[in-house]
Amino acid sequence: MMMEIIAELLKLTVFGGLALAGMLVIVIWKKDLKMKVTYLRLFVQLVALISIYYLYTYQLWLLLMIAIILIIPIVFGRAFCGWLCPFGLYSDVVTILRKSLKIRYRLLPERLNRILHYLRYVLLVFFLILPFLLGPIQSWHWSVAPYLGGPFRTYNVLLGPLEPLIIPWETGLKFFELDISYPYATDIIFYSGDFPFLITVSIFVALTLVTSFFFRRFWCRFCPTGASIAIVNKIKGFRWAPLLHLNKDEEKCTKCGICKRVCPVQVTDVYEKKGGNITTSMCMLCLRCVEMCPYEGCLKLNADGKTVFKSRNWL
Ligand code: SF4
Ligand code: SF4
Ligand code: SF4
Repeated sequence: MMMEIIAELLKLTVFGGLALAGMLVIVIWKKDLKMKVTYLRLFVQLVALISIYYLYTYQLWLLLMIAIILIIPIVFGRAFCGWLCPFGLYSDVVTILRKSLKIRYRLLPERLNRILHYLRYVLLVFFLILPFLLGPIQSWHWSVAPYLGGPFRTYNVLLGPLEPLIIPWETGLKFFELDISYPYATDIIFYSGDFPFLITVSIFVALTLVTSFFFRRFWCRFCPTGASIAIVNKIKGFRWAPLLHLNKDEEKCTKCGICKRVCPVQVTDVYEKKGGNITTSMCMLCLRCVEMCPYEGCLKLNADGKTVFKSRNWL
């Protein structure tokens, strides 16, 4: 009974909060054009988080989630990371907190940043193989079926960043009556073995929050899910597919360097590349560079060849 009341209150709070956030977004959008994408994105991220929570309450959520992370990148490239991923949202909230405390972010050396981006492919392969090493070896037969069920599931690592903070099943982690979680907490619980998972989860939470506080979107720089999304767009048959592209008009670029500074994952290609399509696998299409580039039409987001958003002259 108590649980149901809490769940209802939560729903009301969430929908009330969403309505307020929506109004706030519209007000800010009208008042401050320079910030509009940032607030709009925050709003979309919140809606996505709530939708993912509700998807988790359905029996078929696993299939739905897998479909989402496979289909979205094919159609929208890495916009999933910029606009929908819950773990991305948590990092952005930490960034907002840092900004409100007027603490400046730190930059990773460019070389290290690139190495981390390549490392995510290694991590992806490692985590995809790991369940096969730890899984039910005794019942090994060349079918993958045992790995689609049971605790060590190959696709868990891909779904890790999607875990909302409150989830509709028992995790062993409680906050009052609510079952709480955190990206990858489910995997940590399975993999921690005899080691107390609470300690392992706490260390992971503390580590990711502290690193995100100083380095924007720290986890995203080597996240296996981000890598898998980037890979989808590299597959020959799908290269044509992503509808969204970042484009640059070289003639309008004054090399002011703002795009390089504002990019949360330190993508330098927008600054360095010549004109045309400048989308890279590191870019998560958050559009921060487009909203902050101070020259009209210098940067554009194109969808299927049409401009849907472009930089404005705001100097
Ligand atoms: S890189 Fe990973 S954690 Fe970051 S937004 Fe993408 S899926 Fe989420
Ligand atoms: S912010 Fe715009 S004008 Fe400045 S370097 Fe980047 S693309 Fe060029
Ligand atoms: S290059 Fe631009 S759109 Fe891509 S991640 Fe950086 S700021 Fe976002």
